[in-house]
Amino acid sequence: MKILVINAGSSSLKYQLVNTEDESVLAKGNAERIGIADSCLKHTPAGKDRIELKAEFNDHKDAIKMVLEALLHPEYGVIKDVSEIGAVGHRVVHGGEEFSASTLINDEVMEAIRKNVELAPLHNPANIMGIEACRSIMPNTPMSAVFDTAFHQTMPEKAFLYAVPYEAYEKYGVRRYGFHGTSHKYVALRAAKLLNRPIESLKIITCHLGNGSSITAVQNGKSIDTSMGFTPLEGVPMGTRSGNIDPAIISYMMEKQQLTSEEVNETLNKRSGVLGLSGVSSDFRDLSTAAEKGVRRAKIALDVFIYQVEKFIGAYAAAMGGIDCIVFTAGIGENTPEIREGVCSDLAFMGVKIDKERNASIPGMIKEGFISTDDSKVAVLVVPTNEELMIVRETMELL
Ligand code: ADP
Repeated sequence: MKILVINAGSSSLKYQLVNTEDESVLAKGNAERIGIADSCLKHTPAGKDRIELKAEFNDHKDAIKMVLEALLHPEYGVIKDVSEIGAVGHRVVHGGEEFSASTLINDEVMEAIRKNVELAPLHNPANIMGIEACRSIMPNTPMSAVFDTAFHQTMPEKAFLYAVPYEAYEKYGVRRYGFHGTSHKYVALRAAKLLNRPIESLKIITCHLGNGSSITAVQNGKSIDTSMGFTPLEGVPMGTRSGNIDPAIISYMMEKQQLTSEEVNETLNKRSGVLGLSGVSSDFRDLSTAAEKGVRRAKIALDVFIYQVEKFIGAYAAAMGGIDCIVFTAGIGENTPEIREGVCSDLAFMGVKIDKERNASIPGMIKEGFISTDDSKVAVLVVPTNEELMIVRETMELL
């Protein structure tokens, strides 16, 4: 069977068509600038060069139509008929407390996803547009929703409740939800496979370190705690997001700088993190280059990031009563040996021992594998994340 994976943003729509028999990607691409001038479709059939198609997408429905046209095209298409697409798997950011697993989409499910717009006003509306567009064009094709929050619904109350008046939780849903769940689940399962042990017997800490970063404690295959919270702003410092701060800073800054709540929100989401600290960039490649040239604040930003990641690993080791494995993934986790070494070198007391050569060799010819020494008490792994493949697998299970 072939499954189409859709990740719809407010002005873009990423897609992958996957053959479930061998999990190969038949084609992938991105419909960019939906509803904005100069929209285009970037489409890459497997084994061929990327092509850029000029288009006019007024909405997500136009974009989906064009994606299907590209997939069916005699020259650069990969299927002959739409009916070859057996199902569509949609990434949905927020499933609230309603969804602790992926689900097949029907009207009731759509209603529940709409209810969660309040909790993810930037993401769920775009995800809904993507689903509605597909449902109207392919009304008889089964669709699934795979939620970023679902994997974390196993967290116990002591991990997901904030110590604020309980009514905030009851009335307004203020609690930790956690994000990047599809990625954490994928790399934890993959790590168990590489360790050749059942995931139910393992204590794993997964570090998804990208533009947005989050760290999760996975015990016996279940998320028991995660660093992102009510929103993806909480946790470790990120490219432009602050991560944890003293909440009292917010009202203090609002008074001192005469900021509205919207402005302070913007500062914490868009102008903080390693960008705010360094004044250089939100991109870790730029920070490394600047730090090497002696730019002090770039070095400090990297130190703060590494220190906070270490602290979460320490905290989650305590929460699980030990760890068997640490997994690094996403842009920084997969590509930056210095950051991995920086994090792990202070964890030697827990029995973490990095093999410098192995660490330096990923990414290179190999992208995945162990970076710990053979006698390290804690296995340390790099696993490239693959949220699309996880969506395909979950959709297959549902079917
Ligand atoms: P997003 O959260 O947007 O998916 P990514 O997972 O792509 O982000 O991570 C982006 C971060 O990864 C950037 O800070 C970037 O500097 C860092 N990075 C380091 N090396 C690479 C690389 N070779 N390719 C992509 N990103 C890299």
